[in-house]
Amino acid sequence: MKTLLKVSSLSKYYTVKEGFFRKKVSILKAVDDVSFEIFSGETLGLVGESGCGKSTLGRTVLRLNEATSGDIFFKGISLASLGGGDLRKIRRSMQMIFQDPYSSLNPFMTIEETLKEPFYVHSVGTSSEQDECIRFLLDKVRMPLSYLKRYPKDLSGGQRQRIAIARALALKPDFIVADEPVSALDVSIQSEVLQLLSSFKEEFGFSCLFISHDLAVVEQISDRVAVMYLGSLVEIARKEDLFSSPKHPYTKALLEAVPRPVYDEERRKKYFSLKPLDEKMRSPLGCAFYSRCPLATRICSEEKPMLKGAGNNPFNHKVACHHVT
Ligand code: ADP
Ligand code: MG
Repeated sequence: MKTLLKVSSLSKYYTVKEGFFRKKVSILKAVDDVSFEIFSGETLGLVGESGCGKSTLGRTVLRLNEATSGDIFFKGISLASLGGGDLRKIRRSMQMIFQDPYSSLNPFMTIEETLKEPFYVHSVGTSSEQDECIRFLLDKVRMPLSYLKRYPKDLSGGQRQRIAIARALALKPDFIVADEPVSALDVSIQSEVLQLLSSFKEEFGFSCLFISHDLAVVEQISDRVAVMYLGSLVEIARKEDLFSSPKHPYTKALLEAVPRPVYDEERRKKYFSLKPLDEKMRSPLGCAFYSRCPLATRICSEEKPMLKGAGNNPFNHKVACHHVT
């Protein structure tokens, strides 16, 4: 498998001012030393609770946020080393789809203008070629040509997200970050949009970092899944392996939190319910999951576990836990 994108020890810290006079300054490690790869044509699902740093990671990978440290290699090119012009060129191949298609589409632009924008920005094609492309795209996202003259406000949530997807695909990108692209949609519309994305992935062959807090959505669309917890990746594996034999105690708890009946008493005992997440749980040393973990011992409070191969498929299944081998 060919690597399209390699994220190497990427961190993004925010400085936050606290206290009544906002004088106390602390560092929030939204993304803390994260490394992973995305192969050509695959969808890597990124899952974790709200606030764990998924959006920050997605934005930093695209360099929409400046990283605090670390680097991203896209087709072997270091993004950190690229300046304005070269970065703009490479951006053509990297697109983002956001959660809320209403705020990501300009309300004052018609659908036609919205879909033409990427061609203008990157000076691609003649006017008639652009027209042909946007007609093709509109047809692909199953919307009639009459919608070209409409504005985002005239569209339903699902239709807006289909336009946002069409816009992201306009310049045939190699890589897309989709940040909770169906979370704002009704459940009935969700699977329609997911199917559309899957069929485009087959047809156009792009790779995707698909972010969601919803395991069921991630399961539907991903080839591999990465689980994030308070700024770090705790487990990464092929989808089937992650769902059939989760190894990190946090992944197990997440899977258990998916509402479904548990009749099996043995299984119930094996897992546990998570205490609510508290920002104070970000531990300066050791494992971030320490205070919520049933397996925690002293080493967990002292040493941060690294992501390493585990089980009988160590190349494909990596876990960051002192107690998983
Ligand atoms: P997720 O997408 O998983 O919900 P985010 O990446 O949005 O998480 O946020 C991760 C953490 O970073 C949160 O604690 C959030 O409050 C914080 N954060 C995000 N953006 C900023 C910012 N611009 N300034 C300060 N803190 C931020
Ligand atoms: Mg988010």
